[in-house]
Amino acid sequence: MDGAALAQRLREETAREVEELGGLGLATVLVGDDPASHIYIRLKHEAAESVGIAPVDRRLDADVSEAELLQLVENLNGDDEIDGVLVQLPLPDHIDEARVIRAVDPVKDVDGLHPFNAGQLYLGRQTLVSATPLGVMALLTEYRVPVAGARAVVVGRSPIVGKPMALLLLHANATVTVCHSRTEELARHTLDADIVVVAVGIPGLVSADMVKAGAAVVDVGMNRTDAGLVGDVDAGAADVAALLTPVPGGVGPMTIALLLANTVRAARYRRGLLAFPRP
Ligand code: NAD
Repeated sequence: MDGAALAQRLREETAREVEELGGLGLATVLVGDDPASHIYIRLKHEAAESVGIAPVDRRLDADVSEAELLQLVENLNGDDEIDGVLVQLPLPDHIDEARVIRAVDPVKDVDGLHPFNAGQLYLGRQTLVSATPLGVMALLTEYRVPVAGARAVVVGRSPIVGKPMALLLLHANATVTVCHSRTEELARHTLDADIVVVAVGIPGLVSADMVKAGAAVVDVGMNRTDAGLVGDVDAGAADVAALLTPVPGGVGPMTIALLLANTVRAARYRRGLLAFPRP
């Protein structure tokens, strides 16, 4: 499944929508100097610019107080030029991540992490949803993978990938199993699945002998190794699966494309073009 190609098409569509709406802004907040976070922020800014969304770059030192960070988020919430607010995670240990996530105005929460948006997803009333699982659903649709009635296994249960992924698949009428760090005999579950989505962060966790012949396998993992960027699924799985996403060039570009699409959605909410079900 070629995520790079589909992402490119989605970005072209987003660029047209941005032009129609005129003047969108996406603010990112980066705290500290985590090297991976710096790369992600740079990629998001470049992508935003490429579709005509103005990136607003806010950076704070690692020792910033929680109060200062909350004040910055509050200012971005109130800023009329800004449609989306994204706080790059992880945050330093002295900051209460959940409190910061709650501080983002739900209508600008382009990461879909605010409890209001997460709750809407739980109820099957999609508002703003995390970009990575949205990107996976778009890939499954593009490659005409039947989801309704399929057995889907999601490996990983994080609030940003695994859990929203499981809910999206469930709402699309898959029969969903969620596996995680305490799951015993992972292969028993994955071998039974028509769709496997792996979001763990362990290179090669899912090998060819853990995949059912003809399954669709989506590798969300991004692991930096001496051999370069690799996913969580062993490359040999391609021989067994009907469809597999490569790393890089699979889910990564889709995540960025759907973040931009989320920013357009947030802009529509704020401009009253879409109804946002305020709490
Ligand atoms: P996380 O660390 O928050 O969650 C990892 C999950 O894996 C946990 O729920 C844990 O229970 C599970 N897990 C750990 N060990 C396991 C094991 N042995 N067997 C089964 N499950 C196990 O990570 P995350 O933020 O969800 O990210 C997961 C991976 O996806 C990472 O590699 C991350 O870099 C990548 N990621 C990629 C994109 C993208 O756009 N491609 C986006 C987000 C995350």
